Order: sequence, then C-alpha cells, then structure tokens
Amino acid sequence: MSQFNQFYGNSKAKEALVFYQRGGRFPHGILLEGEAGSGRKTFAGLIAAAALCEGEDAPCGQCRHCKKIFKGIHPDVQRIAPPPGKASFTKEQVEKLRADAWVKPNEAPRKIYILCEVQKMTAWAQNALLKLLEEPPPGVMFLLTCDNRFQLLETVRSRVVLLTLEGPGAERTEQALREQMPGLDPDKARWAAQASGGNIGRAKQMLEEEKDAQWFQLAQQLCRQMEQTDRFGMLQLLAGLEKDREGLVRCLEQVRQVLAGNTKSYFLAQNGPAYRILPLQAEKVLAIIEQGMEYARQNMNMPLLITWLGAGIGSALGE
Ligand SMILES: [Zn+2]
Repeated sequence: MSQFNQFYGNSKAKEALVFYQRGGRFPHGILLEGEAGSGRKTFAGLIAAAALCEGEDAPCGQCRHCKKIFKGIHPDVQRIAPPPGKASFTKEQVEKLRADAWVKPNEAPRKIYILCEVQKMTAWAQNALLKLLEEPPPGVMFLLTCDNRFQLLETVRSRVVLLTLEGPGAERTEQALREQMPGLDPDKARWAAQASGGNIGRAKQMLEEEKDAQWFQLAQQLCRQMEQTDRFGMLQLLAGLEKDREGLVRCLEQVRQVLAGNTKSYFLAQNGPAYRILPLQAEKVLAIIEQGMEYARQNMNMPLLITWLGAGIGSALGE
C-alpha cells in the first residue's frame, strides 16, 4: 500500500503527487508550504520516496530506496537546513549545494535536495539558487519547505510548483496520536489534539512538555523523600517507573540537576521547600544516580536496577 495513506488529510496535495508519480514526471522544484508541525518534512520525505521508489504502489516503503529515505540515510537524498543556532542558510551551504548538484548520484537514478525552512534563506542565498532552480542538472529535484510562500522572493516562487499542506484537524490529529503513540492516555490525546488546533507536530510537542513537567514533579518528590530518608517512599516511587525505562532516566536526570546544584549550595529551592541534603550525602547520591542512568542506558533489568538504586541511595544517605 502506498505510504501516502499514512499521511493524514491533505488529499489535494496527495492527489497532485499521485498524478506526477503515475505520469513518471515530477516537477524539478516543489515548494511545500505549511505551518510548523503540519508535516512538511515528513511529506517531503514521501515525495522523495515516490520519485525514487522501485515498488508497485509508490512510495511502497519496502524497496531499497524507500527504506533508506525513511531512515534518513539515502546518499542521494540530502536534507539541508540552517545550521543549529544560525538564523539562515550559510554562504558555504549554498556554494556547496551549487557544486554538489552537478555530481552524479550514487545509487539512485536522480538526486533530491530537501531544503528545509527556506524562509530562512537570505535574499542573497535565494538569488544564488535561482539559476539552479530554473535549470537544474538533469535528474536533480528540489523540495523546498516553508511556513508561507510569501516569505520567498517572487522569482523563486515562480520557478517551483506550490503544494499547500493543511493541518489534519483535531479529530484526525487525535486519531494519529493514538496510533503513533501506543499507550497514550485517550483523554490526553484528545486534549493535545484540540489544544494544538489539530496540528500533529505541535500536539506531540505539547505532550512532550507535559511529560517533562511530570518528571520534574517526580524528581522533586524523590528529593523530598531523600531529605526525610524515606526509604520506603523512594522505592515505591521508583517502582512506579518499572515499566518506563525512558521515564526513569528522565526522572533521574532531573534529580541529578537538583543535586548537582546542591553539592555546592547546600540547598536549592525549586518551586517548593528547600532540599536539605548534606553536601557529602548529595555527592554520594549523585554518583549513584549517574551510575543508575548509565545502567538504564545499558538495558539493565528494570526491577534489578530499581532495587539497586533504592539500596544505593539509602546507604549514600547514611541510613
Ligand atoms: Zn519503494
């Protein structure tokens, strides 16, 4: 089954692609316009896969090209975005692209460049790419993503085919969240779908932030229990995370941060009562926490790890 069916909503954009795909002719420049979280990057990956797919119902998700593209390791499909911390594409990136486009593909019949968030390209960079967009080397295809087409120079817009992505709506978003995040509380799925205005990317981010707040609260509780040398409480709290390895690591990470501050400052107020753990104790607990995080990453058996943590913290606190 075509992987396009995995992408929610946007029937118009999908129809256009199926049309190009069946005709065996993709435009050499496509601009994907949509707000952050609307799935621009995912959709660009699907187009790239459709253009290179060797399967029956492209993009099949099974052939060598599809697999590599979905893993983000296809040598002929490059994603280019402004470097982290930079507001725009750099001159080096643009120059490298201009040269690289003329180099023959490695294993696919064509090369595809996904240029992410092109609204972050300076006018200079956009102008430098004009010629390439107008007359790309044979087989080269550009997929551009942006928030809004009007952020681009008219000259660039006129050289590409525009596809607008629309958010899938709250109902579809809720459905997608529940499918993509097994075990997610249905009430939370509904909340995130509606609060995000039916934007899958934003909904996932909101759920993530909510989870972070949860780990922080657990970490606070754990610190309070350490303060009171409440060994049973600690074990109970840790045991609650027995089936959630990632959660345990995130909770320990929060505790680590609190304690790392604590070794020097003796106590640290974080939205609540100050934690009074002696610096020497805090240092010992910190070592246990760090070792515990390491064990968790090494896939140590969870019940064993939790028992080890409980005993280790207890003895570090000098029971
Ligand atoms: Zn395929």
